[in-house]
Amino acid sequence: MYVRDLPVSAPVREHYRASGIDELYPPQAAAVEAGVTAGENVVAAIPTASGKTLIAELAMLTADGPALYIVPLRALAREKYESFAELPGVSVGISTGDFDSPAEELGGEDIVVATAEKVDSAIRNGASWVADLACVVVDEVHLLGRPRRGPTLEVTLATLQRRAPGVQIVALSATIDNPGDVAAWLDAELVESTWRPVDLRTGVYTDERVEFDDESVLAVDVGPVGPDEERDTEVTAALVDDVVDGGGQCLAFVRSRREAESLATRLARTAEGEAADVAESVREAGGTETGRQLAAAIESGVGFHHAGLVSEHRALVESAFRDRSLQVICATPTLAAGVNVPARRVVVRDLKRYTGEEMSWLSTLEVHQMCGRAGRPHLDPYGEAILVGDEHTAGEIEARYVEAGPEAVESQLTARDALRTHVLSVVASGFADSISGVLDLLDATFFAHQSPDVDLSGLLGSVVDELAEMELLDVDPSREGHSESAADGDPSPETLAATALGETVSTQYVRPETGARLLAGIRTIESMPDGDVTPLTALGVVCETPDMRGTYLGNRERAEIYRYATRHAAEFTTGPDEAADFEEWLCAIKLARILREWSEGATIETLVERYRIGPGDVESHVERAAWLLGAGDALAETLGADVSIFESVRADLGESLGGAADRRRT
Ligand code: ADP
Repeated sequence: MYVRDLPVSAPVREHYRASGIDELYPPQAAAVEAGVTAGENVVAAIPTASGKTLIAELAMLTADGPALYIVPLRALAREKYESFAELPGVSVGISTGDFDSPAEELGGEDIVVATAEKVDSAIRNGASWVADLACVVVDEVHLLGRPRRGPTLEVTLATLQRRAPGVQIVALSATIDNPGDVAAWLDAELVESTWRPVDLRTGVYTDERVEFDDESVLAVDVGPVGPDEERDTEVTAALVDDVVDGGGQCLAFVRSRREAESLATRLARTAEGEAADVAESVREAGGTETGRQLAAAIESGVGFHHAGLVSEHRALVESAFRDRSLQVICATPTLAAGVNVPARRVVVRDLKRYTGEEMSWLSTLEVHQMCGRAGRPHLDPYGEAILVGDEHTAGEIEARYVEAGPEAVESQLTARDALRTHVLSVVASGFADSISGVLDLLDATFFAHQSPDVDLSGLLGSVVDELAEMELLDVDPSREGHSESAADGDPSPETLAATALGETVSTQYVRPETGARLLAGIRTIESMPDGDVTPLTALGVVCETPDMRGTYLGNRERAEIYRYATRHAAEFTTGPDEAADFEEWLCAIKLARILREWSEGATIETLVERYRIGPGDVESHVERAAWLLGAGDALAETLGADVSIFESVRADLGESLGGAADRRRT
């Protein structure tokens, strides 16, 4: 099937031809045959680089109205936005930021790119553009199996179908074990394929050789490993050098940020001229120690990439790799989850990660996504993925990641936290006003499709009770119709309504537990002497909410943070005795302290050095805190409490966000 046969405008056809797309790849042709250009629901479960973007574009371009493209990560939203904006005659909007608005300005666009959280919050805030959608594309739909993101995605898809009946749904997935489940849930045609534009061979390293699954063998000369050297690192270095010496590029995956940085130092090579320009741009974008280390690594032809980098640095590393000024990236697994950075060879050094309790194997799906980055169309004859093992682990690595297929995707909706959030949101946004109404909506979720025999009414009842206890839901068992519906066998005739506080929690897009924590904080603040209420008070409250992602505590700082907490005890709303978990409480104090120093003008560099966090962490903590302070202020207002500290600290932080780029340069 050729581009000229597609039902799109002549300029769009010309655009594809100009970007080298003339004949459709087989999975793309299969999607067209399945009706993707004729308004049919389609699930495409196909490997990385097999052209999912074109499938999505064809659906959105041929839809009879506006389209929404849902991405899991902000970094991906930007990449997709830029790619759709090149389509001739199409207007594109992007929405990833503030959670507490319906984003009405997106109403006029042909295509809107948004994160799943943003779509969820727009629905809760009553966005009118949602009802006009003709097509919804869901990228990386296999994330349905993730604990936090999955439930949001499935409830969002279920409510979207209610708000925009008949909307075309196109879901794009990595290869998973049960794509048929997802397709049946969405009433979609399934396009499943293992076709790739470049062949991929995968092998396990052990004992100076790699045996690939196509039976080929690569001899590797690691040389003697010194007493201070780590064997897996030396193996990785040999595999990287081998491919770069042959003119290829390589991605090396390791388990942690620190490992990514130290591997980059170990791999330093003599790089060519272009790398120096990239290093210069990195220096211009920010002057932290991590930034300097990154610039030095890039000068030697090797970049690193992890969530602790500021977003500008990450983007520079990605684009330098794509235009080949950089030969190697040492990365944590987050790089595999999205952005397009194909390499001739992928080396996975660490196949286990620390989960907080123990080292455990990465999922097969995740490792396959890393491996799938190997092989650049038109540049490499084939891609190679090499998993580093030794005589003890090679057998298990082979069985887990080479022989076995990826896992099935299982709904996580019944996790209590998730259910609480979504029950409140469907009631607050008017989708249901009784337990049976909520059950009815949940019936349209992936969970109900996967487990049709599970009766959720018991679990739902207790979640509703918890929400009532948190003052977020009103439960009224005495309404008319009580006896009738009970006679019908209705599991619970109770009517449900969100309280004013519940509505605020839902539209501010914070979790119910966060809402409850903020409320408790506001009440304590009301009873505190005025002189004790300082910015640290408000920051302490938001840092103790579960929506504020934690930081960790080094052994050496524990005592110092505790002393700080004691010194400022009068300003905090909780002390160690009230905390459910002492360690978490100390972490919250540490975060509050970091944010306080930031709002007093500390530079990222100072904070990074003082508290051993990544420069990107400062950015994301400040952003989260600003959002949660806004929620605190909105709740104080709903409550009629005379507490203005949240708003004044938020205004300070908001201002500082604008100046963040400048502060990196100081
Ligand atoms: P995926 O999202 O499946 O990982 P992409 O949609 O990003 O893959 O496509 C990978 C690359 O293949 C892109 O550079 C794209 O331009 C190119 N591509 C897609 N379809 C075709 C085609 N039919 N012919 C040639 N190149 C294509």
